[in-house]
Amino acid sequence: MRDSSDTAAVTRRRLFGLTAGTAAALTVASPAWAREAPDSKNLDAEASWRKLAEGNGRFVSGHQTHPHESLKWRESLVKGQHPFACVVGCADSRVPPELVFDEGFGDLFTIRAAGEVLDNSVLGSVEYAVEHLEVPLVVVLGHASCGAVSATIDVVRGRAEVSGEISTLVRAIEPAVLATPPDRDEKAFLARCVDNQAKRVAALMVERSVTIRTAVRHHGVKVVAASYQLDTGAVTRLT
Ligand SMILES: [Zn+2]
Repeated sequence: MRDSSDTAAVTRRRLFGLTAGTAAALTVASPAWAREAPDSKNLDAEASWRKLAEGNGRFVSGHQTHPHESLKWRESLVKGQHPFACVVGCADSRVPPELVFDEGFGDLFTIRAAGEVLDNSVLGSVEYAVEHLEVPLVVVLGHASCGAVSATIDVVRGRAEVSGEISTLVRAIEPAVLATPPDRDEKAFLARCVDNQAKRVAALMVERSVTIRTAVRHHGVKVVAASYQLDTGAVTRLT
């Protein structure tokens, strides 16, 4: 059961200051859930990760099932959503979480920004997923050859300049690059910076948000970092 028991879920809602009516409105699940997706509801954090890993395994092997794309399923979601994980990923067109994890409509609460940079809007979106949608797992998904991280490395090394709000992205990624030990192997260094950026964002979420921190410490929610390989399609959990 999600959060061990219904009582735990109620306690969590109460903790977050929701009235029973509000919570019911936000977390309503249509009867269709019970019929069509008994495996998607009430997962704990590790079961949620296993489900993602299984989907990624199907994606890697080319045996996707493309779940939850039917008209009937789409209609069942009109009354409400009940995603089993929140994914904070890069905006890179080569890393769409629903495809990478072989999931469908209503499965993932996805937030994307270049370099999976964390700002207040992203943080608020994660809080919404944790507090109101009660996702048990938040995955920060970095990826190989990330252009945002690569550009930041170039700026840090004085090889390039960026303009406009791209500089906002660079400033946000810079601490992860500066914290990564130097390496003559450019590719290896970029890969480590990517991993460190994902791990740093995962840690920052818990540090900056009382809502997320409380959910992690007291309600079984997990925030993990992961990395996606463009060539193999595989996702590796980092934390
Ligand atoms: Zn990227």
